[in-house]
Amino acid sequence: MTQKVRCGLCPRHCNLAEGAIGVCKGRGNQNGQIRDLNYGCITSVALDPIEKKPLYHFYPGSYILSVGSFGCNLKCPFCQNHSISMADKSCEYQKVTPEELVALAIDLKNKEQGNLGIAFTYNEPLISYEFVLDTSIELKKHNLKSVLVTNGGICSDYLEKLLPYVDAMNIDLKGFSQQFYDYVKGDFETVKENIRLAHSQCHVEVTTLIIPTKNDSEEDMHSEAEFLYSISPDIPLHISRFFPRYKEQELYPTPIETIDRLCSIASEYLKFVHRGNC
Ligand code: SF4
Repeated sequence: MTQKVRCGLCPRHCNLAEGAIGVCKGRGNQNGQIRDLNYGCITSVALDPIEKKPLYHFYPGSYILSVGSFGCNLKCPFCQNHSISMADKSCEYQKVTPEELVALAIDLKNKEQGNLGIAFTYNEPLISYEFVLDTSIELKKHNLKSVLVTNGGICSDYLEKLLPYVDAMNIDLKGFSQQFYDYVKGDFETVKENIRLAHSQCHVEVTTLIIPTKNDSEEDMHSEAEFLYSISPDIPLHISRFFPRYKEQELYPTPIETIDRLCSIASEYLKFVHRGNC
């Protein structure tokens, strides 16, 4: 019997037999090695305003080539992009190399709207670790920006190796307790540690999607804003409104008053607090 191999990329540490696929559906054991099975598999592509990531304090007014693949290491029942985040290799995608993607980014830079670089977004980019690293190294050679929109849920030693090639991140801080992270099948401490680490090396903004009855307490927002303040009062925080999606169809959309109340609490600690999806 062949030996299992453990994936060390995220706190789930999947122990995978030959040919098995991890919980994220994007990585697996191929010939005794853990690989990103979604290397260069692009399911979504768009030239988006940078504000849509959301990044409001990183080259505002610019556009960025935004790409997504498939798979995710979290299992949020309210996922806004579940058609790709919960998909596996059987979904539709187009294969590209890092060089081809960067060539497209350069081409767009020279067009009217311009292009900052590439944003890895839509599904969880960090499970495509090798592709994101290779493409980000290529982007640097051409003086283009690498941006990650991520749940921040990978082991910090991996993030440390990637950060020299990353210019900006929007990190989802999904709630402010392990109890909430249990609901999305993630690890709260890892995400907090990675926000601190990322902020020491690149531009970071944080997003929290507020889900009625799940993570909308004033107490949690005090704790979250205090935590971000302890890193820097300059970290922008996006407090976003939830709309029923995926398995969370019974809940109602977040009332605007809740968003306003939580924004006002966060503003006691942080300089830049933005409402999202309002
Ligand atoms: S990245 Fe994927 S395969 Fe690796 S430990 Fe996490 S869920 Fe498992």
